[in-house]
Amino acid sequence: MLLVDETDENAATSENQAHPHEPHGNGLASRLNWLRAGVLGANDGIVSTAGLVVGVAAATTTTSAILTAGISGLAAGALSMAAGEYVSVSTQRDSERALLAKERRELRDEPDFELTELAQIYVGKGLSPATARLVADELTAHDAFTAHAEAELGLDPSDLTNPWQAAGSSAISFTIGALLPILAILLPPVSWRIPVTFVAVLIALILTGSISARLGRSNPRRAVLRVVVGGALAMAVTYGIGQVAGVSGL
Ligand SMILES: [Zn+2]
Repeated sequence: MLLVDETDENAATSENQAHPHEPHGNGLASRLNWLRAGVLGANDGIVSTAGLVVGVAAATTTTSAILTAGISGLAAGALSMAAGEYVSVSTQRDSERALLAKERRELRDEPDFELTELAQIYVGKGLSPATARLVADELTAHDAFTAHAEAELGLDPSDLTNPWQAAGSSAISFTIGALLPILAILLPPVSWRIPVTFVAVLIALILTGSISARLGRSNPRRAVLRVVVGGALAMAVTYGIGQVAGVSGL
């Protein structure tokens, strides 16, 4: 049995649409989180696929071998990102649903206690007891469950993170990132493959590093340096491995 039933979710959604100007404190933060997750996924796709194709290109000039490695790496990486994200978001969603179900039970069994509790929360936020009581009364009359979910749990019951959506977006962002080194190594003439890929990847990492630093409000120079050094190291190591494997004819 679903703990949050569909009718409630739909009711809350149409409520939101009816009041498009209602401020939603969590909206911007969660959108930034999504954007940040997307950039990190792309970053993963760039670095792991670049390492893979540079390693294979160091061992062989055969285009089909490089392409096969690149596409396999892309598929494996995108699927593993999606699976990991699905599991972690599902776990989070389960615990959010359990909290919401508990809140719903409490509202049903002890409505008076819950009303006092809600008023207390608004007193804690700085309202006078009389105003807090009025706010709690009106919110309870309007939609007690949503009011409690937001005030007590910081959750919007109509907007829990969807694990499929999270899985899909990390797979897509990884794929977009992975396409860059694959194209960079296949498009130029054979002798240019590795240097072009190296430069293209480092430029892309400067970009993703500075975007994610900006989104996370951290020092952009340090973030860019970290991600560029990491990417360069990954390619240098797999290039070395590919050379050894290629020369020794493994
Ligand atoms: Zn409550």
